[in-house]
Amino acid sequence: MGDKLAIFGGEPVRNTLLPYGRQSIDDQDIEAVVATLQSDYITTGPEIDAFEKGLADHVGAAYAVAFSNGTAALHAACFAAGITKGDEVITTPLTFVASANCVLYTGGKPVFADVNPKTYNIDPSSIESLITPRTKAVIPVDFTGQPADYEQIKAIADKHGIVIIEDAAHALGADYKGEKVGSYSDMTMFSFHPVKHITTGEGGVITTNDRDYYEKLLMFRTHGITRDPAQHLENRHSWEYEMQFLGFNYRMTDLQAALGSSQLKKLNTFVAKRRAYVEAYNKAFNKMGNVIIPAQLPDTTSSYHLYIIRLSGPLKGLRKEIFEALRAENIGVNVHYMPVHTQPYYRDRGYTRGMCPVAEEVYEQIISLPLFSGMTEEDVADVVKAVKKVIAHYEAVTGGNG
Ligand SMILES: *Cc1c(COP(=O)(O)O)cnc(C)c1O
Repeated sequence: MGDKLAIFGGEPVRNTLLPYGRQSIDDQDIEAVVATLQSDYITTGPEIDAFEKGLADHVGAAYAVAFSNGTAALHAACFAAGITKGDEVITTPLTFVASANCVLYTGGKPVFADVNPKTYNIDPSSIESLITPRTKAVIPVDFTGQPADYEQIKAIADKHGIVIIEDAAHALGADYKGEKVGSYSDMTMFSFHPVKHITTGEGGVITTNDRDYYEKLLMFRTHGITRDPAQHLENRHSWEYEMQFLGFNYRMTDLQAALGSSQLKKLNTFVAKRRAYVEAYNKAFNKMGNVIIPAQLPDTTSSYHLYIIRLSGPLKGLRKEIFEALRAENIGVNVHYMPVHTQPYYRDRGYTRGMCPVAEEVYEQIISLPLFSGMTEEDVADVVKAVKKVIAHYEAVTGGNG
């Protein structure tokens, strides 16, 4: 049965817990923040403009608007898309709750489409089957960093006149058919939470090519206020601003933006590291009979926010045991995500288990392994060793050595 598992009192593969994700901050990042602290602006100032321009240029979009976090950015995108009470917005259940909560904030109704069993991304045929006259938008999530099927999603959106808000919290640095994520959807959201590709502590952005959306997003982030006399509805004195709709204070600070610009310089290196570690994982796991490695479509390149293995065969029902055994080996595994429609808040509002059978089944069988740019090759080797050790044990126990 091989080495005794740490969960049964054996030696753990590591002595300290390896987290599933974490930020990489260096001296340049620290200097950038300190310089901003010593400057004239610590909230919306020149660093915000520079970060927005840097991001828009990096992804090939005309505009970028920074927000206090990715969830606020999604809320703003739903507002700009005109989602209001009674409107339906289709999204995936295999995501962080923010992808659906943003619809609720505007009074709309999230509708959950099922996922593709291989990529775990939203299934276009499921989207199509859920469209009604009230459908206003679709929020696909580029799950784990692999873009969803935008060719088909765009065809459906064009046919029915619905807006595409791409939740690319996992996909900064990814491409879809040669186009950069952030450049082709009506609006695209990126998050700068510390586990994402680059961080601003908390932060998010919407990129868009549409001037109208851009102006709405800017105003939404600051109470629905504009200071631009050209945009005022009435004649004003030069010192007066105008509040035209109910917005929020969703501003990012210049301190965060300075950190973001410094991090953005390293994005390509960060993504390259993630890809190299994924290659090492794939090589180690692709011949394991009862472990399914992530499916990578030939026409997309993932930027790999997450690396998810799926248990199959006799290991299917043993996710809990395998998860806990890996944790005991000090591998900070995680599960992304409990399907949103099965959360208590959503169940209380009429959503039921069984609505998205593929997502629900996938959820029962998946484990996210540690993946971040600051990992070392030894960390990767520890994960491989622990996975092989734990899987070998449970294959022996179930007699299912695949
Ligand atoms: C991180 C994330 C968000 C936004 O999260 P914030 O913490 O608000 O920046 C939204 N959707 C998905 C899928 C995410 O992973």
